[in-house]
Amino acid sequence: MTVAASRVTEKLALFGGPKAVATDPGDTFAWPIVTDEDERAVVEVLRHGDMSGTNVTRQFEAEFAAWQGLPFALAHCNGTAAVQAAMFAVGVGRGDEVICPSMTYWASGLPALTLGATVVWADIQPETLCLDPGDLKKRITERTKAIVVVHYSGYPADMDEIMAVAAPGGIKVIEDVSHAHGGIYKGRKLGTIAHVAAMSMMSGKAMPIGEGGMLATADREIYERAVAWGHYERHGDSLTLAELKRFAGLPMGAVKHRLNQLASAMGRVQLRHYDRRSAEIGKAMDYFWDCLEGTPGVRAHRPPRDSGSRMGAWYNARGLYVADELAGLPLGRFCEALAAEGFATKPGANFPLHLHPLLTEADIYGDGQPTVVAQAARDVRAPAGSLPVSEAIDKFCFGVPWFKHHRPEIIDEYVLAVKKAAAHADELR
Ligand SMILES: *Cc1c(COP(=O)(O)O)cnc(C)c1O
Repeated sequence: MTVAASRVTEKLALFGGPKAVATDPGDTFAWPIVTDEDERAVVEVLRHGDMSGTNVTRQFEAEFAAWQGLPFALAHCNGTAAVQAAMFAVGVGRGDEVICPSMTYWASGLPALTLGATVVWADIQPETLCLDPGDLKKRITERTKAIVVVHYSGYPADMDEIMAVAAPGGIKVIEDVSHAHGGIYKGRKLGTIAHVAAMSMMSGKAMPIGEGGMLATADREIYERAVAWGHYERHGDSLTLAELKRFAGLPMGAVKHRLNQLASAMGRVQLRHYDRRSAEIGKAMDYFWDCLEGTPGVRAHRPPRDSGSRMGAWYNARGLYVADELAGLPLGRFCEALAAEGFATKPGANFPLHLHPLLTEADIYGDGQPTVVAQAARDVRAPAGSLPVSEAIDKFCFGVPWFKHHRPEIIDEYVLAVKKAAAHADELR
């Protein structure tokens, strides 16, 4: 660590001292990285007028499937559509229950409602921020059809335990890889462990293609069901199963999930650079956390070094906070001090979905009762207090900078900000 000890004890910026973060970061945080290569690829599609075709998309899918290490990849207009298609593809339908962590972006779970199913929310583990296999087990019933696992903020979820919980009931598992493209769980690439993977590629995510999503699987039936659901124009050459071919020509889902080929063209370019850019992010983020090793009050959100697991590109990068080590200093106050130092942050992550009125009260389809209840055989709602880790997210989790380049002289200033706040915890209280 290269932060000078004398600077750590300097007056906090919150109280009028010098800011820790003083250097213009330049393009340290700029995302997506778009070069002439992306521009040329996109303009070529524009000039050919091929935006609504599938020729470029099929090339992108073939390259993505090779990169992901799975035989089938199907591009979608966004990640939400890919999740919905994955749910249909594994058999989710009327009256079924889909278990999903409450701490995620809404699109991991809400598509279940469009299939006549309901969502059962589960809690997360405080260290990983991913689905807690112990809590998951308690929420399984004979109506559980699928489990959605989110590798939250890039952290590989505990897949061995989750697959073991799912197996006895023949429950299908969907990996939502929207935060973690290319991450590794015990030597295996995220997205290849469960029955099917679905992920976002919108421009804020680690794999940014403009706007889009991807479904990937090793299972031909799952792939074909996703084609049948939302890709009617590909039924002729992608369907082999008789029970799907019968209905070829019309989309089973009454949805159109085709990806705009401007995005496919950008996707092909982004994919070529992905592993290098993501490794650079990993180097920068690991440096940041290595520098903070041993700082009271903060913990890295990353798998242990000897675990064989690796973060997937650190989208929505989070830090973990241990108030007890700073004599109970509330995280909100800690973040105020960081923000004053030039380290913009807030406590929390996503909001716990199970407490939102859409998931407790809304009668979306006119059933005369809340949709999540109307589409289930029981009241599946999770009351306040039932998912304590998700509900406490803004007490122990906060945002940290998502460095895109390994620039120690820039990163050191953010390290200094955290060290200063921790060293001055008494004054902050
Ligand atoms: C972004 C996101 C999605 C949805 O993807 P879109 O491309 O925005 O539709 C799904 N799941 C998670 C966890 C996400 O972060």
